[in-house]
Amino acid sequence: MSKIIAIANQKGGVGKTTTSVNLAACLASLGKKVLLVDIDPQGNTTSGLGINKADVSNCIYDVLINEVHPQEAMVETSVPGLFVIPATIQLAGAEIELVPTISRELRLKKSLQMVKNQFDYVLIDCPPSLGILTINSLTAADSVLIPIQCEYYALEGLSQLLNTVRLVQKHLNTTLQIEGVLLTMLDARTNLGIQVIEEVKKYFQQKVYQTIIPRNVRLSEAPSHGQAIITYDPRSKGAEVYLELAKEVIMYEQAAR
Ligand code: ADP
Ligand code: MG
Repeated sequence: MSKIIAIANQKGGVGKTTTSVNLAACLASLGKKVLLVDIDPQGNTTSGLGINKADVSNCIYDVLINEVHPQEAMVETSVPGLFVIPATIQLAGAEIELVPTISRELRLKKSLQMVKNQFDYVLIDCPPSLGILTINSLTAADSVLIPIQCEYYALEGLSQLLNTVRLVQKHLNTTLQIEGVLLTMLDARTNLGIQVIEEVKKYFQQKVYQTIIPRNVRLSEAPSHGQAIITYDPRSKGAEVYLELAKEVIMYEQAAR
């Protein structure tokens, strides 16, 4: 059984990429085979895992637009069991190039179906928008994981995201589920964080992960070293919490079966 999880929130800077990279690496460290798909033209997941974009021969753009087989775009990472389909700036053109194509919303789904069964988990790091790339991700996914930053207006814009999820469920992917809501960048020194946690829990109830990701400077340093937190600093709080999250994700999947 393999599962495709889109990590989405149209707000930038909420922890989508940090969660994609570190959840994927932690799942792999727990013995799962994981494919991480970077579908954000900024390519932060790609560089965050130490992949030099100049060396990338096929990226997700080629998979979506040029019908390159996803196997030919896959890159092995330094984390055993973790593979990446990288993104380069070329992908910025895809939003426009996809507009006139047939079944443009289904491109990623069709591609991932060719390789899905090789993996336990396929994670997709979405861009900060609700455009065609995010729609492709939600259409390809079994579920969506929503990171929410613990700050004022945390819930702002979420109705738009949930509305998009409902539209995708109605027209493109009837079985799409909400995987879970992840609270990120909690600053333990303020009361604000606690208020936000309560607000988000009231709204999403049991969908909110027990694991809450605190602000941790090691998490923000790791990408500039091209590493996931479990290899950059395995003893850090950041490594500990993302490992906890990975265990929670695995546990919910086993419970659902
Ligand atoms: P998104 O992909 O949603 O735009 P990122 O994961 O890139 O968000 O995070 C935005 C910025 O915040 C990045 O510089 C990242 O390193 C930093 N960051 C993310 N999560 C944490 C955290 N838990 N603690 C400290 N810094 C974080
Ligand atoms: Mg990002």
